[in-house]
Amino acid sequence: MIQPVLKNLYQIFLKYNFIYFSFVSVLISKNTNRAVVDFPNIPGYKTLACDLHIHTVFSDGSVWPDIRIQEALKDQLDVIAMTEHLEIQNWKADIPHPDRNRSFNLATEYAQNSGLVVLNGSEITREMPPGHANAIFLKDANKLLLKNPLDVYKEAKNQGAFIFWNHPHWIAQSPDANIPLDPMHIKLIKNGLINGIEVVNDTTFSEEALQLALDYDLTIIGTSDIHGIIDWQYRTDQGGHRPVTLVFSTEKTKKSIKKALFSGRTAVWFKDNLIGKYERLLPLLQASLEIEKAEYIKNSSVVNLKIKNKSSVPFIMRNVGDFNFYSDTNIFTVEANSFKIIDVKTKRKLRKFDLQFEVINAITAPDTHPVIKISVSPKW
Ligand SMILES: [Zn+2]
Ligand SMILES: [Zn+2]
Repeated sequence: MIQPVLKNLYQIFLKYNFIYFSFVSVLISKNTNRAVVDFPNIPGYKTLACDLHIHTVFSDGSVWPDIRIQEALKDQLDVIAMTEHLEIQNWKADIPHPDRNRSFNLATEYAQNSGLVVLNGSEITREMPPGHANAIFLKDANKLLLKNPLDVYKEAKNQGAFIFWNHPHWIAQSPDANIPLDPMHIKLIKNGLINGIEVVNDTTFSEEALQLALDYDLTIIGTSDIHGIIDWQYRTDQGGHRPVTLVFSTEKTKKSIKKALFSGRTAVWFKDNLIGKYERLLPLLQASLEIEKAEYIKNSSVVNLKIKNKSSVPFIMRNVGDFNFYSDTNIFTVEANSFKIIDVKTKRKLRKFDLQFEVINAITAPDTHPVIKISVSPKW
C-alpha cells in the first residue's frame, strides 16, 4: 500500500518518468556521441582519426598497452602510435624491458582483428635543442639507442621513419611557452629529419608552432601524449575529447598513412576546434556540412533550410554572405552530428543562391578562419 501523499508523488513519477528517462537517455547518447571520433571522408581520401603520441608503463605511463588499445577502440580511432621514451623508464626496477619494441609488439597483439592500425614509434627525449621528437613507422626501435641525438634522427630516417617535433612550446623546456627555434632545428628540417610538428600536445596549443608549420611546410600534428587515462584526462563523461590528428589517406594501410603524413595531408581536432592548412581544412568542412532540405516558406521570399553537420565538431558559423536570417543572428552553431534549421531572407525568390560562412572554430593560420560557400537550390 502507498500512503496518499506518496501515492500522488508516485503518480507524478509515473506520469513524468517517461520524460525523465528520455532526458537521461538524450544526455547519455549525447555524451556517448561526443567521445566517439566521427568525421566524413573527403573526395579522394579516407579521413582517418589518429593519435600518434602514446605512453604506457614501458616508459613513464601508468597503464599496460592493452588499456591503450581499449581506449582507442572506445574512441573509434583508426590509428595509434606507441611512442615510449627511449631514454626514460620510470618503472625499470619493477618492469625491466631492454627491448624498445616490446610496447608496440604487445599493443599489436591486443589490436589483432580489431581494425585498429598500430604503429611502432619512439620518443627521442633530449634537452632543448633539439628537445623531444617522435619517430614513427620504425622497423627496430632498439637501433635508436645512440648517444648523439643527431645520430638517432639519422637512424630513424634510415628506417624510413616519419619524424615530428613534439611540444616545441612545452613550458618545462621553454618558460614563456614560445618556441626556442635553434639553428639545429632548421638544419634538421632542411635535411628532412623533422617532417612534422605538434601544434597541439595534450591540453595545449601553439600558434607559433602553426606558423612554423606553414613557414617550413611541416605536417600539422595534434596528439594526446597520454600518460594516464584518456577518459579522465579529457573528461569524456562531460563531452570532452582527446586531441586527434585527422589523416587524409587513400587507404587504411601503413604505407598509405605514411605517404599522407609525408604529404602533409592532415588536420587537428582540438577542444572542438579544427586546425590545419587551408587546402586540407576546406574539403573537410565542405564534406561535413550539407544542405539537407531547402524550401521557400509559403507566400514569402524566406527559405527554410536544414544544414546537416556530419562531423564530431560543433561548427560556429558567422554569416559573411549576401543574405540575412529571419530566425537567427549572424552567428550560430551547428551542433556535432546534428543539424540546424535556419530561415534565410533572399529578398526575392531564387532558383539557386550561395551562403557564405566564416567558420570561427576552424583555424588555418594564426587568427585566420576559413570562409566556406554552400550552394542552395530551394524548392518553390
Ligand atoms: Zn615529450
Ligand atoms: Zn611524450
